[in-house]
Amino acid sequence: MIPDELPAYVYDLASLDAHAAAVRAALGEVELYYAVKANPDSRLLRVLARHVDGFEVSSGGELAHVRSLFPDIPVAMGGPGKTRAELAADVTRLHVESPGELRRLLETGHPADVLLRVNLDVPVTGASLAMGGGATPFGMDPDGIAECLALLADRPGRGAVRPRGIHAHLASGLDAPALLELARAVLACARELGVSEVNLGGGMAVSYADPDTRFDWRSYGEGLAELRRQGEVLRVEPGRALTAYCGRYVTRVIDVKRVHGELFAVVAGGTHHLRTPAAKGHSQPLSGDLPEGEPITIVGQLCTPKDVLARRVPVSLAVGDVVEFAMAGAYAWNISHHDFLMHPEPGFHYL
Ligand SMILES: *Cc1c(COP(=O)(O)O)cnc(C)c1O
Repeated sequence: MIPDELPAYVYDLASLDAHAAAVRAALGEVELYYAVKANPDSRLLRVLARHVDGFEVSSGGELAHVRSLFPDIPVAMGGPGKTRAELAADVTRLHVESPGELRRLLETGHPADVLLRVNLDVPVTGASLAMGGGATPFGMDPDGIAECLALLADRPGRGAVRPRGIHAHLASGLDAPALLELARAVLACARELGVSEVNLGGGMAVSYADPDTRFDWRSYGEGLAELRRQGEVLRVEPGRALTAYCGRYVTRVIDVKRVHGELFAVVAGGTHHLRTPAAKGHSQPLSGDLPEGEPITIVGQLCTPKDVLARRVPVSLAVGDVVEFAMAGAYAWNISHHDFLMHPEPGFHYL
């Protein structure tokens, strides 16, 4: 489906529904939360709500948004730098990021079921982004965890804050064997601490270079089922790998030019609508049938050399041609700098 007015985002809700159902089925007993920051679009959340056990939010804004749509769905709140108001919010699980944060939470006197976010000293290889496995602002090393446990043990009136287990979101862009390896380390940590609830985070790999290579949810689910012991509650909170595939960004070629020998196609819109390729340094994959041609770099309307959507793709493009970028359903519109240059916003369509 090509909208009349371009550029536009087109979300395939039917394919999202089928994908989420397949992920849900593959995970078996493991709880599935969706990390809302990947794409908080209400229409997508409504589809996902049919399949997930809850939503993971990273701010008071995301929490209010989810609550306005689903007053009763379980919500886990994470994120570094929570304000006092965020710490006192009513959520199903609060992911504590530091001993200082736990102190501030205890000061609020607000009841909370908490998971301590661990940053384990395990090598994270092959990841596109690492949140753990070394000095990062995310979660706590063993000293930080020990400090939290001491705080929870000493404090009079601490009864309101109930430690339920641990949370670990260590890296993004990992395949199933690598994530299972991390799960083994996280579970060992939980067992050592004597807790039975473990949130293993998100970070399931998505390949922009090869859109047909998909995360192997079946083997991940089977692997987790093998690792899980009786009485343990395991939870995952993927974002990108759930919603990336259901979105397309569709636009049209405004100009084609050759500069110092290289071919460029300038399309309507750009990275202020779809920042993903600029943020991750990849070429956004194209969908649809385009004839082969001399390598051409597809750029947007912004006056910056960073406004590149795809580099030297071997397709033939002419003024007026429609260009469809695939895998634009996660960390796409919602991470983009919409107001830069004040071009019109894209349309949004839902199939
Ligand atoms: C961003 C984030 C996720 C989701 O990560 P994906 O790579 O999109 O799966 C999950 N948990 C936490 C704590 C996050 O910050």
